[in-house]
Amino acid sequence: MANEIRKIRARQVLDSRGNPTVEANVNTEHGLFCGIVPSGASTGAKEAVELRDGGIAYAGKGVLKAIANVNGKIAPLIEGMDCTKQDEIDNAMIELDGTENKEKLGANAILAVSIAVCRAGAAAKGQRLFEYIAALSGNKGITMPVPQMNVMNGGKHADMEEDIQEQMIVPFGAKNYSKALEAGVETYHTLEKILKKKFGAVGTLVGDEGGFVPQTTTVEEELDFISKAIKEAGYDGKIGLAIDSAATEFFSKGKYRLYGKEYSSGEMVDFYADLIKTYSNIISLEDGLAEEDWKGWKELTAKIGNKIQIVGDDLLVTNPKRIARAIKEKNCNALLLKINQIGTISESLEASKESKKAGWGIVVSHRSGETEDSFISDFAVGIDAGQSKFGAPARSERNAKYNQLIRIEEELGEKAVYLGKKAFNK
Ligand code: PEP
Ligand code: MG
Repeated sequence: MANEIRKIRARQVLDSRGNPTVEANVNTEHGLFCGIVPSGASTGAKEAVELRDGGIAYAGKGVLKAIANVNGKIAPLIEGMDCTKQDEIDNAMIELDGTENKEKLGANAILAVSIAVCRAGAAAKGQRLFEYIAALSGNKGITMPVPQMNVMNGGKHADMEEDIQEQMIVPFGAKNYSKALEAGVETYHTLEKILKKKFGAVGTLVGDEGGFVPQTTTVEEELDFISKAIKEAGYDGKIGLAIDSAATEFFSKGKYRLYGKEYSSGEMVDFYADLIKTYSNIISLEDGLAEEDWKGWKELTAKIGNKIQIVGDDLLVTNPKRIARAIKEKNCNALLLKINQIGTISESLEASKESKKAGWGIVVSHRSGETEDSFISDFAVGIDAGQSKFGAPARSERNAKYNQLIRIEEELGEKAVYLGKKAFNK
């Protein structure tokens, strides 16, 4: 049979934090295709399950059970199938698992195969990966994502408590993606100089996603440093700010605890409303509230959702069911799309489709534990997401994604669209 999957094999490899993760290879007549799975730290409680071994090796973080599931259970099911039938293959794995959250086989086992199958499918059709994903999704795949670049790391990504996790720069004012990247990189390096001057060498230590972790104590202090860098780099008015609070991490017993102060849900909403008044260049806020504070999210979206983009990450966990609820109840107006939160490419496409239908923005996102796999770059272009979140322009697991976008833009040539501010939902 043409396009037949001849062989599937998985192995344990390492991610950017030195933790084990799953790599799967899919063999067809067109060659060998690979998928490697990333891993989060500030994970949503409702994410699909990342199967870990427990025990002593790698402090319990080994993934040999997931590998055994690929080699012993998924491979016999999928081998012989047509690699261009992404839907059928993903559904077969979902059925074989049989659980709501993929806990039996592990979403890491399933996703590694799903990614590799997608690459094999593109090769079988003689298409670039982003073109193939565009065809699968029914989109055109010509929009280069506007990057949210995480230049200051905190929270779980920097062993900080009661802290905002990510402060990002958004180079929306460029004429194309490459120029946007250039602006972002120059601002990142300018920020490095500013922080070194202020704090010495320790001011430029970086967190899991390559952003700096200076000894700051308020969000205002942090945003002031970044605003200064934008100005000094010459991009005032051309680069905006975005925040991922990852608020579930500083929420407990009904209270938010941030930078030494305590807030109710309503007070957090007021905090953000004040913040965007002071920093009028903030254009996006992710996980401003905790993952089950649906009422607070609704209030937040009603209050400032017409001024800035309100992005759901832990709230939605790329799960079509939670997305449907949030669309209905108006809890946010944009999706953070992480393929390993849901565990298959087909379900990720569905999440994107439903969000688009609702008029939401879409941000295709990496995880704090990443790898050299740049699949999500092609995915972001393929689904015409309009936005991406791949960390700081530092460390090769992050730059692998930025670099792949450079290649895609070059290949698209004049067809490549860069939406700038228009990519952001309000
Ligand atoms: C995030 O919270 O958006 C993120 C990328 O972090 P993690 O991968 O740790 O969930
Ligand atoms: Mg997040």
